[in-house]
Amino acid sequence: MSKQDSRRIVMAANWKMYKNEEEAAGFMSQFKSHVADPDVEIVICPPALLIPTVVREAAGTSINVGIQNIHWEMEGAYTGENSPAAAADVGCAYCICGHSERRHYFEESHEMITRKAQAALSCGLYPIVCIGETKEQRENMETMEVLESQLQASLAGIEGTSDILIAYEPIWAIGTGIACGAAEAEEAIAHIRSVLRALWGKVADEISILYGGSVKPNNVAELMACPNIDGALVGGASLKADSFAAIVNYNK
Ligand code: PEP
Repeated sequence: MSKQDSRRIVMAANWKMYKNEEEAAGFMSQFKSHVADPDVEIVICPPALLIPTVVREAAGTSINVGIQNIHWEMEGAYTGENSPAAAADVGCAYCICGHSERRHYFEESHEMITRKAQAALSCGLYPIVCIGETKEQRENMETMEVLESQLQASLAGIEGTSDILIAYEPIWAIGTGIACGAAEAEEAIAHIRSVLRALWGKVADEISILYGGSVKPNNVAELMACPNIDGALVGGASLKADSFAAIVNYNK
């Protein structure tokens, strides 16, 4: 089975809480020269304070900007939060929803993630909804069951749409340097697609599902050769322009 032509291939950088303004601008000027004619959609998700810098530096290129987290309301008395409408207004096109660090450190529930994904869709941001099992769950052979219940809970009540992207991020692979094997990642992502098919029907075949967890220039091609893997969500290896460019240019 080959990848569907209707699915977009997306390479997304999650900078987490790294870089200052000078570093962000420096990354962009170097990165742009390496990805002049990309075959894939590129998304850079900087810390929220650096979004205007990255938007400015991305002007005139096909590089998209995303936000790492939003609130589910467009405005209100929510000190310290990011409005989805304001994110779209300043030039974001994507939004990460429910990254495992948000679920773990900030106690985000499935319900909050559903509301964030809905808020993102309502103001034209593409949500990248993250799911993934712990090491213990994988060792107990619970991965498929966990993915299914996370997916059902995080997408509850949302109408099927290919504007949503899913990132399969096994928690044990994030930031550890231990990537999921390509066969295991493909198995999990094929399962995610079958759960989406049961939930939403045929649109599941148009939904881009990314793999995330220690993606590096030396393992990206093997992952991308898998029929159901439509891109990557990259943390550590997205912080250096040459290494993220090598990931973006995996097939060149
Ligand atoms: C992430 O932050 O989503 C991630 C996958 O990080 P890393 O690539 O460093 O494992």
